[in-house]
Amino acid sequence: MDRAKLHRIYRYWIDWLYPNICPCCGGYIDYDADFCVDCKSRLNVCKDTLAVAHTDGAAAYCIYDDNIKGAVLAFKKNRNGNSYYAFACGIAEAVRKSSFAGDIDMIVPIPASKKNMKERGYNQSELIAQELRFLLGVPYGNVLVKAKETKVQKRLGMNERAENVIGAFAVNEKNCDIAGKRLLVIDDVCTTGSTLAEAAKVLKENGAAKVYAAAFAKTPFKS
Ligand SMILES: [Zn+2]
Repeated sequence: MDRAKLHRIYRYWIDWLYPNICPCCGGYIDYDADFCVDCKSRLNVCKDTLAVAHTDGAAAYCIYDDNIKGAVLAFKKNRNGNSYYAFACGIAEAVRKSSFAGDIDMIVPIPASKKNMKERGYNQSELIAQELRFLLGVPYGNVLVKAKETKVQKRLGMNERAENVIGAFAVNEKNCDIAGKRLLVIDDVCTTGSTLAEAAKVLKENGAAKVYAAAFAKTPFKS
């Protein structure tokens, strides 16, 4: 039996102990559902492709608006609930619709800062990657590490964001077998794309053949 099927069986049984909930409204949903029908119908699915520098293609599942904002912010504060599975389902859907579907060897999460890891105890991109590997059928690897602590992107303008992330990432010495591989770098939210672009740049400098990027939600950037 493949690992994706085993994971579905795991989700089915764990649902008896920890019932699956909709990340937007908290209502109970089927063990393999991402959102409840009502909340899902309100999501604004991204119709355009994303432009992210240094990548060979990029995609996002939905627009970051009031319908999804609460679920994204709650996920940054608390790992409980269904958010990471739901966000992985969204990214998987965006990837399947993209020009790079089926062209991926490994998923690479954006690493969390030391401060966030200390405060939250988890990296939200990694939690999404752990689910996404079953949905896309490719492994994930913590290939990137944070090389320097950066300022919180939220409070910066477009140019400052790009500058802030320069030198932010390095390849993990113990986990750097990426030569010739096709990688998908993922994050929960993409605003200007500067974080994903910097990650793609570092991965390519370290021998990746192709780098694609995907985020669950795309923020309309207001400077
Ligand atoms: Zn709901």
